[in-house]
Amino acid sequence: MRTLGLIGGMTWHSTVDYYKLINQGVHDKLGGTHSARILLLSIDFSPVEHMQNRGEWRALGQLMAGAARSLEGAGAEAVVICANTMHQLADDITAAVKIPLIHIADAAAAEVKKKGLKTVGLLGTRYTMEMDFYRGRLEAMHGLKVLVPDEPGRTTVHEVIYKELARGVVRPEARQAYVEVIEDLVKRGAEGVILGCTEIPMLIGAKDSRVPVFDTTAIHAAAAVDFALG
Ligand code: GLU
Repeated sequence: MRTLGLIGGMTWHSTVDYYKLINQGVHDKLGGTHSARILLLSIDFSPVEHMQNRGEWRALGQLMAGAARSLEGAGAEAVVICANTMHQLADDITAAVKIPLIHIADAAAAEVKKKGLKTVGLLGTRYTMEMDFYRGRLEAMHGLKVLVPDEPGRTTVHEVIYKELARGVVRPEARQAYVEVIEDLVKRGAEGVILGCTEIPMLIGAKDSRVPVFDTTAIHAAAAVDFALG
């Protein structure tokens, strides 16, 4: 079995889910008392949030590259960034280490295509919804058409992530607001919706949407299991 190097803490609420899902996935495939070989480097999210806010992506890239180097040095055979947003720094990581990065957008796109869908809605942080690193990759590398919420939907989705989910707060009112944003995306032609923030599955599941939803935490964890056992 290969050793996975997880960069977690972004936020720890979803890192817990990654840890469980990866171990569960290995156990499901190997049975007995098998579990995953995991190195976890879990960072303090507060300074990261502020650096994101100030647009300090270069410094964040150095932080991510350093984390990936530490994991590689400790014996990790692949890097898993336990977040969507921080894939903005994917190139900094791949330039810093020799081991592969298991990219969350590639894993999500593969699941969307498995279902035969071509047009998807994307929910995530403002960075994920508005910058090019995620949507651009889904469109250019995977041939998908990506719709993001109109304003004020994007602000609602972003603020619920940082002010609530990242602090472990899950409120029915926030779920209802997301349901309305999803409905709007479906009316605009989304055949499915990518939950492109690893905390969103704490709030939204299949029952909250009339089109398929793609849980990037579970999908990414499954891709990591495939790598570990492949
Ligand atoms: N976990 C989140 C994501 O998947 C948001 C926190 C972050 O900005 O990294 O995008």
